[in-house]
Amino acid sequence: MENQVRPLKTMEKMPDLINKYWQDVWERKKNGGLVAWVSGASPFQVLSAMDIQVVWPEGYGSLCSAAGASGELCQQAETLGYSPDLCSVLRNQIGSTHGNIAPEKLPWGGLPDPDIMVCQPYCPGIYKMWKKWSEFFNVPLLVMERGRIHDAFTKEECTQLVNDGIEELQEIIIFLERFTGRRFDHDRLSQRLAFERKASDLRLDGVEMCRNIPAPMSMFDAFANIFPWYLRRGTPEAVTYYQELKDELAERVAHKTGSLMGEEKYRLYWDNLPVYYKTEELTQKFASYSAVPVVAYFPYVFGFDPGLDLKNPLKYIVEFNLLSPLNRGLTGRIEWINKMVEGFSLDGFVMQRSRTCLMNNMGQENITETLIEKTGLPAVVIEGDLCDPRFYSDSEVNGKIDAFMEILALRKSSMDNMQTVPIRS
Ligand code: SF4
Repeated sequence: MENQVRPLKTMEKMPDLINKYWQDVWERKKNGGLVAWVSGASPFQVLSAMDIQVVWPEGYGSLCSAAGASGELCQQAETLGYSPDLCSVLRNQIGSTHGNIAPEKLPWGGLPDPDIMVCQPYCPGIYKMWKKWSEFFNVPLLVMERGRIHDAFTKEECTQLVNDGIEELQEIIIFLERFTGRRFDHDRLSQRLAFERKASDLRLDGVEMCRNIPAPMSMFDAFANIFPWYLRRGTPEAVTYYQELKDELAERVAHKTGSLMGEEKYRLYWDNLPVYYKTEELTQKFASYSAVPVVAYFPYVFGFDPGLDLKNPLKYIVEFNLLSPLNRGLTGRIEWINKMVEGFSLDGFVMQRSRTCLMNNMGQENITETLIEKTGLPAVVIEGDLCDPRFYSDSEVNGKIDAFMEILALRKSSMDNMQTVPIRS
């Protein structure tokens, strides 16, 4: 009998959590509340603390991808003259704000018009588009720099980056006080950060439990489980959700119950972004070989905590963004992944190449070669994209996975007689 996937009960609550977030957003907008568009790595916490409703357009792109709507929105952007090579998250956003689709037909009613925008230009293309949107909506655009932590950076240089970031954040707070006519509430910020930290820790505890054999969930579950964290950050609802998730995963670990009904034979690393619109097919495809992606860097990017100091909220926010595993030079990223894969008892690497994401693709070939060299494990490179399904070919991806799984099976069976088999499909 084909291996079946075991669904997580806690995840049944996710659609309600997501819908409730969008209901809240639209209610706030209709009641005259302020709405901010915030790019993924921006210091949204200071806006939430000032009672400004935060909306993440990149997160909306991922949700549209999961809902199967992003392809059409990307095409809408192209009919307006944007290149298909432009990041599909941005095209999804352009399609929703400027496309030819009535708002009531857009997922969750689309993005509400912003009253203010905050951008941290963490990847190419973001700033230019955000500037255009701020001109279109005629609202202020606040920009916060985020220097990249290059491999050769000294401790002093990192400290300087953090101090510069704190200064920028203080300027943003002064601007927000003028913009809202309210004093900044530092206690509220601390309270929200405490909830955010708690939810992050609980979620990451769950991701870490995948070191167990069998893993209590796959990375496809972990990717989906980023949504409540993203949308309900800084709230007790997020803490409750992740406590329940962690308890369910801990129970699975205690009973040696994995994410598959049958045996877990192959444990894999997944690189780069999720392909939300193909989650179900990919989960089933790997399950058909009794394989599970048990680790990926993406879930660690959200809520990462290398021992940050919550007692110093502004420093915490700056370091939280700056020290993300993605914001590193190539050597730093390889070391980070290599460290992460240790202890997960891996059999191979699935290197997803997200066609229009310049940032996550950067250096991926070197990373793949180095990982193969360092670990001796095989790798497969598959092409996909976060929001544009036209860059994903079922036959090509499935063919590559079939060949890869054959290599893994051969390697497993040849372990005893020490035969050599290829390490790249
Ligand atoms: S990181 Fe990649 S997917 Fe995200 S906005 Fe930048 S280019 Fe687009």
